[in-house]
Amino acid sequence: ALPTVAIVGQPNVGKSTLFNRIINERLAIVEDRPGVTRDRNYAKASWLGHEFNIIDTGGITWEGGRIEDEIRAQADIAMEEADVIVMITSVALHLTDLDERIARILYRSSKPVLLAVNKADNPEQRADIYDFYSLGLGDPIPISSTHGTGIGDLLDAIVENF
Ligand code: GDP
Ligand code: MG
Repeated sequence: ALPTVAIVGQPNVGKSTLFNRIINERLAIVEDRPGVTRDRNYAKASWLGHEFNIIDTGGITWEGGRIEDEIRAQADIAMEEADVIVMITSVALHLTDLDERIARILYRSSKPVLLAVNKADNPEQRADIYDFYSLGLGDPIPISSTHGTGIGDLLDAIVENF
């Protein structure tokens, strides 16, 4: 089976934008899994010859319920299904209480967790990521999902963990 990568993070940090960028630009075939009715939440992607499945957990779990339930459900899907988990935060929002709650859930996972700080669209924002070290998930990787900056570095880190 192909390795699976899951994207988790609070609403509005750019999970779906990152997912679309990875599947549209680097890639390959978008395919729905049996049993998953909403499309574009699961796709196949590749980077430097490594093929993988990618999941936008935000797209499948949001049912308009409590935010605590939403992030818990995302993290559970990621911890069950993924080989590598990518937690997304936003430099525009700064570090939030929800980021800390998601990180605390992910600590319990034995899976590798990478931390990407999205919306780092310019050099000042790329340099403004130090607060995110306190999440305890290693070096934050600054990315801009809309501009494309840092996406290659993130994909390199992902495939190194397969
Ligand atoms: P999700 O709720 O985590 O899936 O977030 P979305 O992918 O829907 O993005 C939420 C908003 O953030 C949208 O308006 C995106 O266009 C915007 N966004 C996503 N990535 C970036 C980025 O790298 N830079 C900036 N400035 N905006 C972004
Ligand atoms: Mg989304």
